[in-house]
Amino acid sequence: MTGVRVRFAPSPTGALHIGGVRTALYNYLLAKKTGGTFIVRIEDTDQTRYIEGAEDYIMESLKWCGLLPDEGPGIGGDYGPYRQSERKEKGLYKKYAQQLIDNGHAYFAFDTAEELTAIRSKFEAEKKTFKYSSATRMDMTNSLTLSAEETQKRLASNEPYTIRLKVPADELVVINDLIRGEVTFQSNELDDKIMLKSDGMPTYHMANIVDDHLMKITHVIRGEEWLPSTAHHVLLYRYLGWEEEMPQFAHLPLILKPTGKGKLSKRDGDKLGIPVFPLSWDAATPEDSFQGFREFGFLSEAVNNFLAFLGWNPGTEQEIFSLNELCEAFSLERIGKSGARFDFEKAKWFNQQYIITMTDEKLAELIQPLLLGKGYEFDQDYIASFCGLMKERVSLLTDFVDVGYYFFEDVRTYDEKNVRKRWKTDRRDLFESLSIALASTEDFNAENVEKVVKTFIETSGLKFGEVFPILRIALAGSMSGPDLFKMMALLGKERVAERLKKAFNYFDEVCLAV
Ligand code: GLU
Repeated sequence: MTGVRVRFAPSPTGALHIGGVRTALYNYLLAKKTGGTFIVRIEDTDQTRYIEGAEDYIMESLKWCGLLPDEGPGIGGDYGPYRQSERKEKGLYKKYAQQLIDNGHAYFAFDTAEELTAIRSKFEAEKKTFKYSSATRMDMTNSLTLSAEETQKRLASNEPYTIRLKVPADELVVINDLIRGEVTFQSNELDDKIMLKSDGMPTYHMANIVDDHLMKITHVIRGEEWLPSTAHHVLLYRYLGWEEEMPQFAHLPLILKPTGKGKLSKRDGDKLGIPVFPLSWDAATPEDSFQGFREFGFLSEAVNNFLAFLGWNPGTEQEIFSLNELCEAFSLERIGKSGARFDFEKAKWFNQQYIITMTDEKLAELIQPLLLGKGYEFDQDYIASFCGLMKERVSLLTDFVDVGYYFFEDVRTYDEKNVRKRWKTDRRDLFESLSIALASTEDFNAENVEKVVKTFIETSGLKFGEVFPILRIALAGSMSGPDLFKMMALLGKERVAERLKKAFNYFDEVCLAV
């Protein structure tokens, strides 16, 4: 496959859902795999749904994921402009709508909003749904039912009109989808879609087909929800005389809720407290604002890897793929038809794999801003050692800070249940002697600390299980955490001494109070 030209064509109607990122990713992967071109086109013809900031959000999301377009708004390219509103200004669409009229495949419709509402209500009253189509168009007010003079008169007096596609009756429209195979639509099911709106703007269908053609798009890779529209698109290619160069279609499977039932939505994210968008979105109201994968502590490499597997598989056991490896391994043939379940635990697993293999220094770079945000100022070496200790124990970047906070401030709370169970007030003196031994350790590194603790265990007659948990709770508040001796060495002699003192006092208090 050479000369592949694919496009990601989002509408700036809000934040880009994670499913949109997957669509962008698959387009990107096919382009890179084949040495082709990845294009971003902003489909902003629906002014009523335009949301300020959405285009920036989309471009920022792609940048974060490393899915950089070869052509697009702000990037340039030979087929620009790449925003449909700007293309409309250049008169790119109207002439094709006119061409459809001229060759009898479209017509002017003058029905007013009130008339359309009235007929819809009439149909509803009869428990039917109104569709402007081959079955109904001859009962409506349009250039097919009005005389040529009347039509001209209305046009000349600037009466508002739309241009509708004249979908033929009783035809089969066949789509050869690369993922779904042959999909057939009976044309009677299709409505006479509006091509040009009364404000002179093209609809999605018109602009999308004209642009795909003019931009020489070879493959249209998009969500399954666009499959029904594709029947109209095939007709449009045919009627505009472009059928020969029609792109190939690949409709991606749905991304399903974590339960596997129904399509993943923004509400699932709110309900389950998980991200379903790549980046955070700050809306005027808190209900409409949310955090993205990035703010949750995901690495973009892990997100790409996770998303790639939502619908595609490499046909091997391998699960960890860098973006470059994905580019090589990717193929449309290995995309499945059935919906892919959004498994947040799996997303975290991918992230964990990436964290584990990252160098401590690189992790420190990523963690430092998070620490600064919490008011913790520590040097890079300390943070790098901390990351080294923690990286096998976390799955999100934010976990480092949330789980390992005690490396940056005092223990906030102790696991009281275990304190009660394990602390014996009559061992206080023994433990004090361990504190003293630790405080007099010359070189406070993990090895030396280990020696001191082990000697203490031997001489005190206590068991490992009677000492380690106590030290852990005293130093970190809980019994879990990284390697005890390494943790002690990183905390340093002073902090260890202070924490043991404070904790032993507290442990006594807790146990004596019982
Ligand atoms: N503008 C459409 C969207 O928002 C593009 C669909 C397509 O790729 O054709 O998803």
